[in-house]
Order: sequence, then C-alpha cells, then structure tokens
Amino acid sequence: MSLNRRHFLAVAGSAVTGLVGGSWSGGVQARAPVLKSQVPGFYRFSLGQFQLTVVSDGTIAFPAEALWPEATNAERDAVLASDFQPTDKSTLQVNVLAVNTGDRLVLIDAGSRGKMKPQPTAGRLLQNLAAAEIKPEEVDTVLITHAHPDHLWGVADASDTERTFSNAEYVIGEAELNFWMQPQHPLENHARWSGIYRQNIKTLAAIKDRIRTVKPDGEVVPGITAIATPGHTPGHTSLQIASGSNQLLCTADVVGNRAVAFQHPDWRGGFDLDLDQGAKTRRAFLDRCASEKVMVSSYHLPFPGVGHVVRTGTAFSWLPSDWRWEEVSPT
Ligand SMILES: [Zn+2]
Repeated sequence: MSLNRRHFLAVAGSAVTGLVGGSWSGGVQARAPVLKSQVPGFYRFSLGQFQLTVVSDGTIAFPAEALWPEATNAERDAVLASDFQPTDKSTLQVNVLAVNTGDRLVLIDAGSRGKMKPQPTAGRLLQNLAAAEIKPEEVDTVLITHAHPDHLWGVADASDTERTFSNAEYVIGEAELNFWMQPQHPLENHARWSGIYRQNIKTLAAIKDRIRTVKPDGEVVPGITAIATPGHTPGHTSLQIASGSNQLLCTADVVGNRAVAFQHPDWRGGFDLDLDQGAKTRRAFLDRCASEKVMVSSYHLPFPGVGHVVRTGTAFSWLPSDWRWEEVSPT
C-alpha cells in the first residue's frame, strides 16, 4: 500500500468515525506545500481580427515622494490611503502587450530583463512569454514607447551582446531616438538619470542595426499607429491599435498609479523629464480616452491593465475590464 493510499484511508476513516458520532471532528486533512509559482502571467483577448496577449514582466516599486515630489505628504497619503494602497511607495505593474495581427507579431515594449536593480520582482517577461506559448524568435517587431529601463532594457541580455528577439526589428519614435543619441547629452551627469542614460546607450547599441524610427501618426505596422505623447520623455509614444471598427489605445507611461494619475492628472510627475508637458499630455490623453469611450491598455496599471477611462468631475477614474475566457479553450 502506498503512503498516499494509506494516508487517504486513514483520513477517510476518521471522517466516517466523525460522522457516526453525529458531529464533524475531521478538520485539517493534510499540510499543503507552500507554492513558489505565480500563475497567470499572461492574459489573452481579441480585438477584431487581432489577438492580443498581455504578458507580465512583473512589478516595480518607487517611493511615493519621488513620484509626486510637489504634492505634500498629507495630499499624497490621502489619495493613496483612500485607494487602499501603501502610502510610502507605489507599486506598478509591467504589462507588455503582444499583438498578433495575423501577419505580424508585435511586442509593445520589452520589460527590463532583470537589469533594473534593485527591482527583484521585475524581469519575468521571458518566462511569461513561454507560458503564453510565444517564442522570442517569432516576434517580428518590438515597439519601444520610450527609452526607460522598464521598457527598453529587455531588448538585450545582461551584457547587451545578444538581442532577446533575434529576428525582430525595433521601432522607436524618431524624436525619442534623437533625444537619447544626441552628443553632449544633458543627462550625462544628471543626479537621477546619468546611470540610466549610460545603460541606454549600451542597450541601444545592441539593436542599432535593427532600428526603424516612426514619426507621430506614422504606421508601426498595418493596424498600429504611433501617437505623440511627449513629456515623460521627449519622444514618448502611445499607440492606437485598430482592427476593423475595433479600437484600443495604449497609454504607455502617460499614466502610472491607478489612483493618482486619474484623480490628480495635473500633478507633475517626478519621473517626467518635462514636468509641465507631462501633466498636459496626461490630461489630454485621458480626455481623449474618456470622450472616445475606447478600450485602453496600460503598461503600469493593475494587471492586465485593460479597461476604460471615465470622467469624474474635473478628473477621471479607471474602470478595469472583467477577465474573459472567450479566446482560451480548456485543456
Ligand atoms: Zn514605465
């Protein structure tokens, strides 16, 4: 008799004994192991003829004070606490979007491939792509919305010698590439951004012979159009994805925190390179999302970051979509 069978019979016997006695005495049956895996790491849905898969690179967290340096402690605490978030830091999801148009497989941003330190909860894109049955070599195009670590650094390995998506072209806004590649760079000795600037130069070098630039309103691939949303970075690019009459807007980093960005779109964000332009772009983009009542996909909102934007007074709210299984057959 196997240990499991003997254990089962013993448990069953004690349960029956409990019933005969007229009162339930069986309680804990076994001590379940503590599990290490975290599933799901992807969410698949359809948009017209396109199949979209949100694939998680994990999460990253930053001090609240650094994200909204001009708000008072009391103002920041009030917004975050009212949304049941910690008040000392803001945790952001990293939602990479894979778009299969039928002709092309396009990835919107590339995660960080574990290069963001110390952010041990990030760098999970490759394992979650594998779970979603998407092979890196199948990716035709990687669109980089802007050259920040959590979006760009995943295009190459830790030493920036091997491209992650070996067959892909890398598309980036023309203004964004020009900004980072300019000589005598304004961020070269900047207190916050110098380390990121130096790593960006190395990572961009790893893909330089595969880069194609896109202009505002330019086509990334058929069905995916660039939208200029400057402020967070000079060439920051959001996207419109359209299949037939079905549309979706990708925010990229126009918004971050699910409460602050919507309740206080005009707060200047500490990670925006142009503080005024960043706030202006955020309000204009949220206004567009709310007016068009269009589905929205967002890189940093709670996974999978798909939903709608509605107006609340002079500000906005985020309404996440329900999880749907329509595209997934049980196995
Ligand atoms: Zn980001």
